[in-house]
Amino acid sequence: MKAPFTDALALLDAARAILITGHVNPDGDAIGSMLALGHALNSRGKTVTLALQDPVPQSCRFLPGADAILQPPVEGDFDLAVLLDCENPKRAGSLAEQVERTPKSLVVDHHLSEGGFGTVEVRDTTAAATGEILAEMLEAGGYAITLDVANCLLTALILDTGGFRYSNTSPNTLRWAARMVEAGGRIAPIYRELFENRAFSATQLMGRALSSLNAVAGGRIVYAALTRQDFAETGADENETEGINNQLMSVLGVEATALFRESSKGVRISLRSRSIVNCNAVAREFGGGGHLRAAGCTVNAPLPEAIGQVVAALQVALSAEG
Ligand code: 5GP
Ligand code: MN
Repeated sequence: MKAPFTDALALLDAARAILITGHVNPDGDAIGSMLALGHALNSRGKTVTLALQDPVPQSCRFLPGADAILQPPVEGDFDLAVLLDCENPKRAGSLAEQVERTPKSLVVDHHLSEGGFGTVEVRDTTAAATGEILAEMLEAGGYAITLDVANCLLTALILDTGGFRYSNTSPNTLRWAARMVEAGGRIAPIYRELFENRAFSATQLMGRALSSLNAVAGGRIVYAALTRQDFAETGADENETEGINNQLMSVLGVEATALFRESSKGVRISLRSRSIVNCNAVAREFGGGGHLRAAGCTVNAPLPEAIGQVVAALQVALSAEG
C-alpha cells in the first residue's frame, strides 16, 4: 500500500471525533468526497461531523447525507480534522480556525500546490478528483463500498471530469468509476443532477454571459463577464454559473477562457485552458490557484480593471508558451 495511505488510514483508525470539511463554494468533488468519507467512517462507528463554510449547491443536494452538512459555527471538540479537495485550511474559509486548532489533521487533495499542512498529507495531482484518491484509499483500508459511498465517489469523479471528457480523465479514473458502478452507483442520474438541472434564472444568466462575449489574441482567448445587475435582474445565485465555462471553451479556435463575476467578495474569476496556458500559474499571480487546465482567483478591483489585469496575464501566458 502507498505510504501516505497507510499513515492516513492509521490516523482515521485512531480518531474518535472527526471533523470533515472542504473548500469554499463547494463542488461535487468536495461534497461527494466529504459524504463518501463520512459514510465510510460512520460504518466503522466513528463520530463524524461534516461542515462547510458555504451551503451545499442545489446540484449536490440529491446526494445521500447532504442535508446533514453543517455551516459554522460548529460545536464540539474533534481529535482529527480532515480537509478534502483543499490545499490548506484557508480554502475552507471560516472553518480554517477550527481545523487549525484540532490536534491532528489529514489532507486529501489533487490541486497543484506546495502542500505543507497536515499531520498526514495525501496529495496526488495526477488524480482527476479528490474522490479518485479517496476511492483507492478506502478500498486499501478495507472499507465497504456501499451504495451511498459509490454514488458519492462517482459524483466526485463525474463533476471534476465533466462527465469523463476533460483531459484529466485517466485509465485510473475510469477504473475507479467502473468499480463504483459495480457497487451500484449510476452515472446517468448523477450526470443529470449535476449538469442538466439548470434553473430558469441561471439559464437566463448564461444568456447574459454569452451576450457579453469578447475575444482577444485572434480569438484564442475568449472571456465573458457577469455584473451584479445581471445577478439581480435574473435572480440567479452567485454560484449558479456552472456550465458557462464549458460554453466559452466550446468556441472554435479557443485556447483559454475567463469568466468574470462581480460578487460580494470582489471579482471572482474562473480560468480554463485547452493545451498551452497554465491556469494555475495565472490564478496564482492573483492569489488564487487550482489545476493546470482549470483554476480560479478573486481580484479586489472594479470589474473593468479586473478584466484588464487578468486578460493581460492570459495574453502574456499565451505568448510566452504558445
Ligand atoms: P472554478 O473555476 O470551477 O471555480 O475552479 C476551478 C478550480 O480552481 C477548482 O479546482 C477550484 O478548487 C480551484 N480554485 C478556484 N478558485 C480558487 C481560489 O481562489 N484559490 C485556489 N487556491 N483555488 C481555486
Ligand atoms: Mn476537485
